[in-house]
Amino acid sequence: MKKLKLYNTLHNRKEIFKPIEPGKVKLYTCGLTVYNYAHIGNLRTYVFEDILKRTLRYNGFDLLHVMNITDIGHLTSDADSGEDKMVLSAQKQNKSVWEIAEHYTQAFEKDLKNLNILFPDKHVKATEEIPAMIDLIKRIEKNGYTYKSGGNVYYDISQCDDYGKLANLDLDNLQAGARIEVDNAKKNPHDFVLWFTKSKFKDQEMKWDSPWGKGYPGWHIECSAISMKHLGDHFDIHCGGIDHIPVHHTNEIAQAEAATGEKWVNYWLHGEFLIFKNHKMSKSRNEFLTLDLLNEKGYSSLVYRYFCLGAHYRKKLNFSYESLDAAKESLKRIRDKIITIERNLESSFDKAKYTEKFKQDFVAQINNDLNMPAALAVLWQVLKTDKIGNKEKYDLILDFDQVLGLRLKDSSKIIKEMKHEEVDSKLVEKLIKDREKARENRNWSQADEIRKKLDELGVEVRDGADGTEWRIK
Ligand code: AMP
Ligand code: ZN
Repeated sequence: MKKLKLYNTLHNRKEIFKPIEPGKVKLYTCGLTVYNYAHIGNLRTYVFEDILKRTLRYNGFDLLHVMNITDIGHLTSDADSGEDKMVLSAQKQNKSVWEIAEHYTQAFEKDLKNLNILFPDKHVKATEEIPAMIDLIKRIEKNGYTYKSGGNVYYDISQCDDYGKLANLDLDNLQAGARIEVDNAKKNPHDFVLWFTKSKFKDQEMKWDSPWGKGYPGWHIECSAISMKHLGDHFDIHCGGIDHIPVHHTNEIAQAEAATGEKWVNYWLHGEFLIFKNHKMSKSRNEFLTLDLLNEKGYSSLVYRYFCLGAHYRKKLNFSYESLDAAKESLKRIRDKIITIERNLESSFDKAKYTEKFKQDFVAQINNDLNMPAALAVLWQVLKTDKIGNKEKYDLILDFDQVLGLRLKDSSKIIKEMKHEEVDSKLVEKLIKDREKARENRNWSQADEIRKKLDELGVEVRDGADGTEWRIK
């Protein structure tokens, strides 16, 4: 089997993946800030991470996956300025921050389920890990990387020799305040808050005791603390969207390595953006689409998943309803072909070498930095080929679907459900009533005609002792 290669942002190249402990992978992915629904841009990143997990599993690795829930401390700018996203959302909706967090966490978990995304082994709320964050800040402080100013505890980047190595940041040429709002309490504009004691917002409800006073953590510390608590001081893979490279992940590395004095994470993977109307889809632009909205418009969540698989995760993906229609049509064609294959699962034992070749091709693509568009092309070849029998095809399809996650085994059920949604049940009920009347009146030809109409609608009618029942064929 071809070895798994992944693009490591830390070294800007594809590398053969080698876990710290043979056969085991420890993975951390940045979770959602739960002040609003996830938009389909956020969800693109979670689909990419799901493909990564499934590919690791397919390669035989045991996986431990932790994801956080940001329910505290994320400001509208990633760099300690702006307003608190959670507080702002609670104020707008006249709810407590806790209610907001609970509502959007549940909505997000529903999205993950509908997208057939494998659930993390641990989905951890930041507010439940404050002691772990305080412990980590203490370690960073003990090693001399912090200072107190203006009531907050800051990370001092001048103490860190390789700050910005993930993003290749050229600190000398980045003007203070050009990217980051100037904060007079900071020694350097790139320093960042580990612990706030001075709430910038009078209604901040979430506060905890700490050695530095009552307050709340900065956003970056939560991911370092949660990942290190559950995965250890050194682990294999850390992921997120590319927007996290220059600030959030850069600061995570600085904190964690200040605490341990050693290299923290071996592989950093980042997903490119979903683009909508020429811009990164984002909540702040108020132009974000949710999965629920797509569902309401008649696109299933798995159609959106298929749409995401059509682009490599390191390439921008433009969202449009035309391309989503194309994805819907393609996925339906795949399902229709599978249903036909299922009807006659005859084998062709002499074609084993082709079966093996298709499998090798598929593995070569997924193991080439998760090249899903090319992996989908192999699936299409399998669906169309006459070199192998239906039994071999079917086994390959189900095997590939361990990575694709399109619920291909359920194709017949899914197509039936689609037809059900498409059928106008009021019309069916009316036709059935008309047919019953015709039968009462012994008008057999009219009754037959109505049955024919129902048949054309894809409806099967059964006359029993308790009346007439119908179902989609
Ligand atoms: P947030 O809740 O803002 O921390 O975002 C959750 C995840 O979605 C992060 O990994 C982001 O990098 C990612 N993300 C945000 N916007 C987009 C987008 N337009 N396309 C793809 N991923 C995104
Ligand atoms: Zn994070």
